[in-house]
Formats: sequence, C-alpha cells, structure tokens
Amino acid sequence: MNDTSDLVAELKKRGAQKVALQFPEGLKRRAAEYATALKTAGFDVIVSGDPCYGACDLAVDTLALADVLIHFGHAPVDDLQNVIFEPYHVGFDVTVLKHALPLLKGKTICLVTTVQHVHLVPEMAAFLQLQGIDTRIGAGSTRTPFRGQVLGCSFAAAKVPGADEILFVGTGLFHAIGIAIATRKRVIALDPLTGIAQDVNGDTLLRRRFAVIEKARNAKTIGIILSTKSGQQRMALAQHLSSLSPNATIVTLREVSPDELLNLGFACYVNTACPRLAYDDQVRFPVPVLSPQEFEIVCGVRTWDDYAIDEIP
Ligand code: SF4
Repeated sequence: MNDTSDLVAELKKRGAQKVALQFPEGLKRRAAEYATALKTAGFDVIVSGDPCYGACDLAVDTLALADVLIHFGHAPVDDLQNVIFEPYHVGFDVTVLKHALPLLKGKTICLVTTVQHVHLVPEMAAFLQLQGIDTRIGAGSTRTPFRGQVLGCSFAAAKVPGADEILFVGTGLFHAIGIAIATRKRVIALDPLTGIAQDVNGDTLLRRRFAVIEKARNAKTIGIILSTKSGQQRMALAQHLSSLSPNATIVTLREVSPDELLNLGFACYVNTACPRLAYDDQVRFPVPVLSPQEFEIVCGVRTWDDYAIDEIP
C-alpha cells in the first residue's frame, strides 16, 4: 500500500471527518488496507463496493454519505467538488523501451501511455532521445490532464502534428488500436511489464465493425443508450442520434449488460456511454451495438471513408 500521510494531511486540510473510498476493479483488494489506515488516523470510513472502471463513474451516492470521496487509480475526467483523485503508479525500468527500437521507423515519434505509467513519461522520453529518436509528447485533453496520457475514450495526446509514428507504452491492445484508427498513423505497442513490442493496426477491428454495421441496417427499432454515469452522459449526442431516425428512442442505463439489452427488446442499440462497450464487448451482446459514428453511416449522414473511432471530448 502507498504511504497515506499525504492523503491524511489533505483530508485534515479539508476538515473532512467522514471519508468515502472508491477503487477500480484492479485495486479493490486494497480497500480493507486503506480503510484500516484511515480509520487508525481518526476518520470514519465507508467504501463504495460497486463496479468502477474509470473516473467517469464517481461514487456520488456514497459521497452523499461522506464529506469527501477518495477515488483511487484514475486522473479526473471532469470537475467535481469534494473528490480527491489518488494516483496509483506502476513503475518499471525504462530501458525496457529498447525492445520497441527495432520496430520504430520514423524520424519523429509521439510517446503515449496510460495513467498508471504517466509519471515515467519524462524518463521514457529522455531514454528515447538518447537513442537519437526525436520524441514528442502531446498535451492531451481535459479528460487526460497529464502530458502523454491517453484513455480508452480520449486519444488527444497521440494527435501530435509532425510525428511520423506513435509509441504506446502500456498493457493490452485496445488503446493502441484506437490510436491507430484515430490518427491513421503507424502505432507500435510496447507492454512494459513483458517487454513485448508489436506493430498494431486497426484493420481487424474495422472489418468486425463493418460486419456489425451491415447487420444493423435492417433494424426496425433502435435504442440510443444514454449513460447515467457522471462522466459518460452525452445527452446532446444522444439527441442528435435520435433525430436521425424515427425508429430511434433514447434509453437511459447505468450498467450496459447483455441481459439488460435483451430485456429491453430493441433490435439494435447505439452506444453513447463508454466507447469501449461497443468495440470490446460486441461478442457478448445479443444484437448489434453501434458507435455513434457507425449509426451515422447507417443513416447515410457519414460515409465509411469518414469512419472515426468514438472519443469523448
Ligand atoms: S468512458 Fe470508458 S474509457 Fe473513458 S474513462 Fe470511462 S471507463 Fe475509461
């Protein structure tokens, strides 16, 4: 467990007595340790046990029972009073980047990573510069406050003008594939924990999405999913999409699950909640779940050549 002395000092500065804790799924097993440490420091503690996958899903119901919510493991995606965002850094030896060097062909690269590793961006950039690689770091967006940080719903830091290709350092391939589609540039993904580097492109995802779009064309009823989570709610987008078809109806949902979609009975859905749902989970869903841009293609207001990956601004 990280040292809690800074957290304790911040809570005292805010005059907090009742403290709510929220952890993403990968850190939940630390809940008891943190609760004990803060109770020992004199605070009343309550833990949010609901599933959480991002700072877009703050435990506002649990915060209502406390003075302050401590949200672990994510950077803020919007402003909310009485929330402390507590980072959870995962370190590694930056010389692991040597495994990516044989795959880098461009003169200038853009370096991006996820929030767990973002504290190492200056060190990684210095390592690449030492190898003679002109390395650029993008500023990101309001959803990605750290330089070089990307999220599954925001690839702004990868859109650096003048970069020939992009080096993504992180685990999993979703971010790298998303960056490839969002930037239309060559992307190398390096897993810093295994040292495995690979050339990534969006072709397989795009082929799968083309098939989903074709399947959705005959749907007579369309549910436009509008999330009720604090950082995923895109009402203006849902209204725009709903206006494109007389068969479309906005449906609010907190958790988007195969069972809920089946029970609701629409022949097709359009997802304005977390963009990853449509791309990652289609195999679990009983009917086509389109991204907003894919629904625009079905409705004839966007062409396949203008395909774009869904990002939340
Ligand atoms: S919307 Fe999805 S990708 Fe974006 S922060 Fe939330 S969980 Fe992560």
